[in-house]
Amino acid sequence: MSDCLFCRILREEVPADVVHETERTVAFRDIGPQAPTHVLVIPREHHADVAALSAADPALVAEVMAAAVAVARQEGLSGGYRLLTNTGSDAGQTVQHAHVHVLGGRPLGPLG
Ligand code: AMP
Ligand code: ZN
Repeated sequence: MSDCLFCRILREEVPADVVHETERTVAFRDIGPQAPTHVLVIPREHHADVAALSAADPALVAEVMAAAVAVARQEGLSGGYRLLTNTGSDAGQTVQHAHVHVLGGRPLGPLG
């Protein structure tokens, strides 16, 4: 997708602080961190949201989640962490390329 922000990050047209990579996933720091650790994990393949990703390639959902857990371990989030995926407008999804937020480094409180 030529105009997708995260595809542009994957093509290195937009800079990002990449912290983890696998054959099919990339993880980079969120530009507006909501916690001391705030990393986004994305599939290299473009899918608009996790529902589309799940329909097209459920194994890739598992790879994204496994990468998110690896990021949490790498970031030293031994006290726990939150994996979050906004899907659609009610959830406030702003970037239409499937991604999992990895949040941690402080007590996160209840979901709002
Ligand atoms: P969501 O609201 O769940 O779609 O999450 C999109 C996330 O992308 C937000 O937390 C933004 O802060 C983050 N974001 C937007 N632009 C960039 C960027 N250029 N680099 C890193 N993260 C970004
Ligand atoms: Zn994309």
